[in-house]
Amino acid sequence: MYPSAAQEILLLEACGQARFVWNLGLEQRLMWARWKGPTPGFNAQAAQLTEARGGEPWLAAGSQTVQQQALRDLDQAWARFFAGTHRRPRWRKAGKDEGLRIVGPQALRVRQDNRSRSSVLVPKIGWVSFKRSRALASWKSYRITRDRAGRWHISFAVIPDPITTPGTGQVVGVDRGVTVAVALSSGEMTSPVGLSLKEAERLLRLQRRLARARRGSNRRKKVRTLIGRLKAREADRRKDWVEKTSTDLARRFDVIRVEDLNVKGMTRSARGTVQKPGRNVAQKAGLNRGILKSGWGLLVTRLEQKAPGRVEKVKAAYTSQTCHACKHIASESRQSQATFVCVACGHQGNADVNAARNIAAGHAVTARGDRRVLARSVKREPQHARPPKVA
Ligand SMILES: [Zn+2]
Repeated sequence: MYPSAAQEILLLEACGQARFVWNLGLEQRLMWARWKGPTPGFNAQAAQLTEARGGEPWLAAGSQTVQQQALRDLDQAWARFFAGTHRRPRWRKAGKDEGLRIVGPQALRVRQDNRSRSSVLVPKIGWVSFKRSRALASWKSYRITRDRAGRWHISFAVIPDPITTPGTGQVVGVDRGVTVAVALSSGEMTSPVGLSLKEAERLLRLQRRLARARRGSNRRKKVRTLIGRLKAREADRRKDWVEKTSTDLARRFDVIRVEDLNVKGMTRSARGTVQKPGRNVAQKAGLNRGILKSGWGLLVTRLEQKAPGRVEKVKAAYTSQTCHACKHIASESRQSQATFVCVACGHQGNADVNAARNIAAGHAVTARGDRRVLARSVKREPQHARPPKVA
C-alpha cells in the first residue's frame, strides 16, 4: 500500500488508537477474578469507548469504526481462545503490531485506478492507493498493516477455493528436515532461500551496532528499521517458498503424506525449570532455529488449507532409520545426515529421500489433538491458528 506522507501520519495515528483501545480492553479482561465477577464484554466496552471519546480529543479525532473494530477483534480473539483454536490474545506493541481492520459495507469502498493500482477509502483518512497483487472478488473485510520494515500492506479477507486434485492417483511423501527443509519421495529437495552470506554479515554488524546504541536514541531507531528490513526480506523469502511449495504439491499430487510431528512441542524451549533443567539445551536451540527457519509448521498448515482432505499424517517413528528397499530398521544405516546405507541389503541413497519414501508408503494415523472450528461465519476473517509471521 502506498499512502502519501500526510496519509501515513494519519494511518499511524489510527493504528495507535486501535492498539490503545485493544490493550485497554485486554487489560480490563485480564482483571477477571473469581471474587470480582465478570469483566466487561464487547457491548459494555463499546459503550465505554463512546464515553472515553467524549473526554479524550485524541481518541475522538480518530475513526470510531476503527476503534470499535479493535474491540470487536479483541472479543473474537477471546472467543477463539476459549474455543481452543487460537492462543491467548496478546498485548500489541508499537512499531510491531501496527494495523487496523474495516468490516462490512465500509470495507467495500474500493475503486480501480488503472491496470495495476486501486484505491481504498479508509474512514477519516481518504483514498489510499495500493497495488493489486491479484484480482479482487467477494471480500467482506480488509486489514491494513505496517510491518517492522515500515511497509504498508492491505489484505482483503477471502477464503479461496481449494486447489483441484490432479486425479492421477499419485502419492507423495514429504520429509521435513533441518539441513534440507523438504525432501520428496520423488527425489526432489528444496529449501527456502534465506539471507545471502553478505546479507547475514550485514545483519550481524547491524545487531552489534544496535547493542551499542543508546536506548531511545534516533540512531537506535534507524538501526532497528534497517534490521527490520533485512529480517522482513528473510521472512518474505521463506513465506514465498512455503506458498510456492504447497501450491506445487497440491497441484501435482493426489495424496500428500507428511510426518505426524508436533512442531509446537518440538520447538518449545528445552531449558526446563530451575529445579529440573533440560538436557542438550544448546543443541535443541540450534535445531529450533533450523525448524523455524525452514517454516515447517506453516507449510503443513498451508497444505491442509490448499488441499483439504488430501493431506495425511503418518506415524513419524523410524522413518529415518528404515530402509525403503527392504524395510530393515537400524540406526546404523543412517551413516550421516546426508547418506543412508542399509546394513541389511546395501541399498544406498539420500537419507532424507529415503525417509520421504517411507512416509509415502506409510499409513495415515488418526489426528490427535486436532481441534477444529466446525462452523465459521462468512463475515469472519479467515485466520490460521498459527498466523504466518511476516517480519
Ligand atoms: Zn535395506
